[in-house]
Amino acid sequence: MHPKKVHFFYSAKERENKLNEDLLLLIELQECDSKLMAFSTRKKTLPEKIDKLDKDFAACKESMEQNKKKHDELKNAHADKEKEVKKINENIAKAKGRLLEVKNNKEYQAILKEIEVAEASCGDIETQIISLLDEIDNISVLANKDGEILSQHKQKHEDERKILEADINSLDTDFSQWEQKRNEIKNKMNGGLLEKYERIRNRNGGIGVVSVWKAVCNGCHMNIPPQLYNELQKSSELMICPNCNRIIYYQNKDSAAS
Ligand SMILES: [Zn+2]
Repeated sequence: MHPKKVHFFYSAKERENKLNEDLLLLIELQECDSKLMAFSTRKKTLPEKIDKLDKDFAACKESMEQNKKKHDELKNAHADKEKEVKKINENIAKAKGRLLEVKNNKEYQAILKEIEVAEASCGDIETQIISLLDEIDNISVLANKDGEILSQHKQKHEDERKILEADINSLDTDFSQWEQKRNEIKNKMNGGLLEKYERIRNRNGGIGVVSVWKAVCNGCHMNIPPQLYNELQKSSELMICPNCNRIIYYQNKDSAAS
């Protein structure tokens, strides 16, 4: 009879369980860190998105209001022309009054000439007024159309803005929830494992643990050697991608999807 074998360390099965436990913690921790990184990015990009949205809308508004601006200018021009006509007509009326008081024919002829010139210029201005009124009609159709389109854009802009603002408001809550989850996971890990993870993560743009499927590392998208891939599937110990040096684990994406 052999004496009962004493394990000072983990048995093979225990080791495997322990590894699975470690790996699960690492995967969960990585998930937390990836979420937290994404939140930090969003915290920066969301206000930028709102800013861009506002600028785009202001530019759209500006271009949409060109026709309205033109319409207002034409209206003012029309009012000026009407004033001019009124003034000329007053002058004509005064000149006609003076006709009754003239003493000689020369003066009479001069006033008649003055009235004739004034009436001719009045006629010119009235022609200009008619074409101005035409222009005003045309441009007000365009300006009204612009107004409708602009109010649609305004609604869309406000809706999009509200969504982004709501996102910003929920970010802080999400962040602290995931931070809390991260702390809980961290507390379950042994110091050495955590330190190893942090070291690898810091060297690799915040991603320290990645899956491998069909012999491709999901971190660097390179193939890992067949022998390593074989070993990884048997998962006897924590393994590192020889290319990107991240902690790798085997994940059957086909079964995960189903
Ligand atoms: Zn890799």
